[in-house]
Amino acid sequence: MQLLPVEHFAALARLPNCRHVFTRRIAGIDVSHNKAKALARLERAHWQIRHASGFGDWPLLIAEQVHGDKIAIVDEPIESDRHFTACDALITNQRGVLLGIHVADCCAVYIVDPKTPAIGLVHSGRKGTEIAIVAKAIEQMKKRFGSTPPDMIVQLSPCIRPPHYETDFAAEIIRQCRSKGVSQIHDSGLCTACDVDRYYSYRAEKGKTGRMLALLGLT
Ligand SMILES: [Zn+2]
Repeated sequence: MQLLPVEHFAALARLPNCRHVFTRRIAGIDVSHNKAKALARLERAHWQIRHASGFGDWPLLIAEQVHGDKIAIVDEPIESDRHFTACDALITNQRGVLLGIHVADCCAVYIVDPKTPAIGLVHSGRKGTEIAIVAKAIEQMKKRFGSTPPDMIVQLSPCIRPPHYETDFAAEIIRQCRSKGVSQIHDSGLCTACDVDRYYSYRAEKGKTGRMLALLGLT
């Protein structure tokens, strides 16, 4: 892979003690024909990106998302890859482990507290935003790790937005962060359905689509 189909967010890239990536659409992987085969190819591409991004030997913790508000809390060392059933957010204060969230229109919300340090990665679409999963993840980072919201940097990934979607859940995520005392909030502002050459969009592609992978870890 010469040029990795990934992006980095400036607000996170300048932080010295975390590393992150957001994968884009992988050229040539078309989920509309043979879904199982395409998803297997996508998983392999994500594995390659993970290794090419310098995360190769980091245990990968994946949330098996259900549009709920359960948060996986990782406060002790983990040695190998793990899936967390029925969770839509992961938080940790451990270094050298990689948090992973899949999205295709929903927002991946990166939360970094560089002081403690501690991190969170949240899957927040319309439903998750309605039940305030980002606010709950911020609360749990305070409670479990002693993080304080003024230290936190929040980054919203590309996600579906009006007029392609009837609900502006990205704006609601930002409101939730502010109400919890976070002021350093960065939004990519990009709509996944506006740019299906670059992103997968569940709505724009009528459900026959792949997933972007958000990755975040403390160094
Ligand atoms: Zn759009």
